[in-house]
Amino acid sequence: NRRKNTSTEEFVMQIVAGNIPFLSRAITLVESTHPKHQEQANEILEACLPHANKSIRIGITGVPGVGKSTFIESLGKHLTSLGNKVAVLAIDPSSSVNKGSILGDKTRMEALVTDKNAFIRPSPSGTSLGGVAQKTRETIILCEAAGFDTIIIETVGVGQSETAVHSMTDFFLLLKLAGAGDELQGIKRGIIEMADAIVINKADSGNEKNAKLAKVEFNRALHLYPPKESGWQPKVLLASALHHQGIDAIYAMIDEYMMLTKKSGYFQQKRNEQNTYWLLETINQQLKRNFYNNPKIKDLLQQEVTKLESGKTTPFTAAKRLLYKHNEQ
Ligand code: GDP
Repeated sequence: NRRKNTSTEEFVMQIVAGNIPFLSRAITLVESTHPKHQEQANEILEACLPHANKSIRIGITGVPGVGKSTFIESLGKHLTSLGNKVAVLAIDPSSSVNKGSILGDKTRMEALVTDKNAFIRPSPSGTSLGGVAQKTRETIILCEAAGFDTIIIETVGVGQSETAVHSMTDFFLLLKLAGAGDELQGIKRGIIEMADAIVINKADSGNEKNAKLAKVEFNRALHLYPPKESGWQPKVLLASALHHQGIDAIYAMIDEYMMLTKKSGYFQQKRNEQNTYWLLETINQQLKRNFYNNPKIKDLLQQEVTKLESGKTTPFTAAKRLLYKHNEQ
C-alpha cells in the first residue's frame, strides 16, 4: 500500500499548503493507537509547530438541544463570509466508533460541510477523556498549520469535558436557553466561572421576552464572581442561531476579547500556561499507563488488594510497595 509510505516531509509540505485530504490523514495518524502511526504523527506535529499557533481558539458548550451545531454553523458561515478559514472539532468522550458522536452525523452543519473554507472533524473516539482531549489538542496544531485561523471546539457537558475544552481554547462560550426564570438552576458552578460569555440561544419565536429576562439574571449572577485574571468582564448576549441573529455581535465581542488580551499579554500567558498544563498532563497519562500496563505490577496489585482485604496491610503501605517495585524495573 503506497499510502502507508507517505513521508513525514510530504505530509508537512501538503498540510502547510492547505491540502485537506493530507490534513485528514495526518489527523487519523494522531488518533491511531498503532505505535508506528503515533511515531509519525509526533514527527508531523513537531514539524507543523512553527506553522501553528496563529489562530484563535473558541470553545463552545451547552446541553444537547440548546443549538450548538446550529450556532456553530451560523458563526462558521459568518466567519468564512469575512474571509476566515474555520475548523470545527469536538470533544465527546462518550463517543465510540459505533455510537454516533457529536459532529459524527454528516447531516449536521450541512452548509458548513460544503464550505471550502471550513473543515469539520468529529470527536476522536476513546475511552478516557484525557486521551480524547490530547488528540484534539494535537489536531488543533495540524489544522492551524493547514491555515485555519479560527478553531471552534464543541463539547457536550459530560464529565470534565468542559474543563478539557477550556484548557485548550482562548475564549469559552456557554450556550443557554431561557426558561421560566430559574435560569441558574441545574448549571454547574464551574462552568459559569470558565465562561467568557453566555449566549442565550433561541431568542426568537415569541421567546424574546424570556430571553431578555434571562439575560438580566445571568448578568447579575456573573457579577457575583470575582474579576477574571484576563481583566475581561464576561458578557451575556442573545442569539437566534436558526435565524442568524446576534451572530455578528457575538463575533465582534470575541474579536474585542482577542484584541484586549493580546494587548495586555494575557493571551500569550494563557497559551503558555496551557502548554505547561498539557506537558504535565501528558506525563501523568504516560506514567499511569506505564504503571498499570506493567504485567508485574498487575500481579502485585492483585496480591496487595488481597492483603488489604484480609487486613494484612494498609492502602498507604501497599501503594508504597507497588511504586517502589515499579521504580526498580
Ligand atoms: P445541539 O444538540 O446543541 O447541537 O442542538 P442543535 O443545533 O442540533 O439544535 C437543536 C434543535 O433546536 C434543532 O431542531 C434546531 O433547529 C433548533 N434550534 C437551534 N437554534 C435555534 C434557534 O436559534 N431558534 C430556534 N427556534 N430553534 C433553534
